[in-house]
Amino acid sequence: MAKEDILKEVREKGIKSIRLQFTDILGILKNVAITTAQLEKALEGELMFDGSSIEGFARIEESDMYLRPDPNTFTVFPWRPIKGGVARLICDVFNPDGTPFEGDPRYALKKVVAEASSMGYTLNVGPEVEFFLFQVDGDGRPTTITHDNASYFYMTPVDLGEEARRSMVLTLEQMGFEIEASHHETAPGQHEIDFKYSDALDTADKIVTFRFVVRTIAQQHGLHATFMPKPIAGINGSGMHTNQSLFMNGQNAFFDPNGEMGLSKEAYNYIAGLMKHAHSFVAITNPTVNSYKRLIPGFEAPCYIAWSARNRSPLIRIPSKRGSSTRIEARFPDPSCNPYLALAVQLKAGLAGIKENLTPPSAVSQNIYKMSDEERKAQGIQALPANLYDALQELSRDGLIKETLGKHIYERFMKEGIKEWDRYRSTVHPWEVSRYLEMY
Ligand code: ADP
Ligand code: GLU
Ligand code: MG
Ligand code: MG
Repeated sequence: MAKEDILKEVREKGIKSIRLQFTDILGILKNVAITTAQLEKALEGELMFDGSSIEGFARIEESDMYLRPDPNTFTVFPWRPIKGGVARLICDVFNPDGTPFEGDPRYALKKVVAEASSMGYTLNVGPEVEFFLFQVDGDGRPTTITHDNASYFYMTPVDLGEEARRSMVLTLEQMGFEIEASHHETAPGQHEIDFKYSDALDTADKIVTFRFVVRTIAQQHGLHATFMPKPIAGINGSGMHTNQSLFMNGQNAFFDPNGEMGLSKEAYNYIAGLMKHAHSFVAITNPTVNSYKRLIPGFEAPCYIAWSARNRSPLIRIPSKRGSSTRIEARFPDPSCNPYLALAVQLKAGLAGIKENLTPPSAVSQNIYKMSDEERKAQGIQALPANLYDALQELSRDGLIKETLGKHIYERFMKEGIKEWDRYRSTVHPWEVSRYLEMY
């Protein structure tokens, strides 16, 4: 959208307030509201904010930052009144000297997208975002009581979330999303909404928007939506399967009708690149202490570094569609990640696979959860890191992924991650009390 068109729409619709949005290093959406009187100045990238108070953004002494809105992200909030409404713009962050700010996750992704583009590729990404809907208590605070007991593909009256989900879908559509499917997921109170794939930057923008819309609409239905990866032990957690394909000149470069399984050489290189770096970039795609409680056997989430044509236990699955829908499904990411960084590290690893002409190990067709340690060892199948600390250690040893994040983001991300791990490590959990209090 051109700047003039935005100003015109704002005038015509009588929009009163504009939210300038960006994410911090952890992927949390932040915003500053401005009045329409300030919009023109904002569109010129002349609005300054204090970056020192944003998680991991800046050192205090270099706190002045500029927000430069991306006009393509202009969206009106459909749940606000039509007259005197509210719109938003996602922004890039710049230093006072006009250079891009190294701590901006959107910039980290843009750099990898540019690298792909210099090789002739566009990365297309379609996420399948899962989330839970929980009841709130009398004070409006979230509980972990699910609002229903339904399961995969259930309908009303068992699926009590149908109303809220429908309203989420309609709102997202009004905001320009093309919704392909929405359904109840396997666990009670768990849902999934899938939107059509797009290029990496657009999809990352859409994921942060999606999380914020889903939470807002749930609240309007008296429910709490959470993207926490594993809110309840013993049942499925929430993943964010990330379907990926590279296009070249408008054609799907992963498709080769004459290739093994209908896949091109690039597709195999890309899979091999992802598998080579998965042990270290999970710290980015699965960034919370809780993420690693989802990555355990038995709940349709992966915990081993392997790929398969059909099976749902490995890291990577190849959905059966071919032609322009040929894609790989990365099953490890979870919806608590920073989508800009998560896509940047996966794309970088995949491109490295192509540049280095890497070959993946053979596909695994058995259920890996059911294989013994010896069987896995014999096939060279390694496990993903078991917890956030191990994942951060792996990250610290992977030069390619560190380079993708850049020094600023890498250092802040590590510092926050280790701090988070220490908070967890020094807490006495209810499980320990129930297990040991009487035993010893
Ligand atoms: P599955 O049921 O196989 O796990 P879904 O049908 O739920 O997958 O989700 C498919 C996702 O993949 C959608 O977001 C869709 O837009 C996306 N997708 C389809 N074709 C491509 C492609 N060529 N590249 C990337 N994503 C794609
Ligand atoms: N919820 C599962 C996960 O944690 C995925 C279920 C599915 O295959 O859609 O990844
Ligand atoms: Mg699912
Ligand atoms: Mg899937």
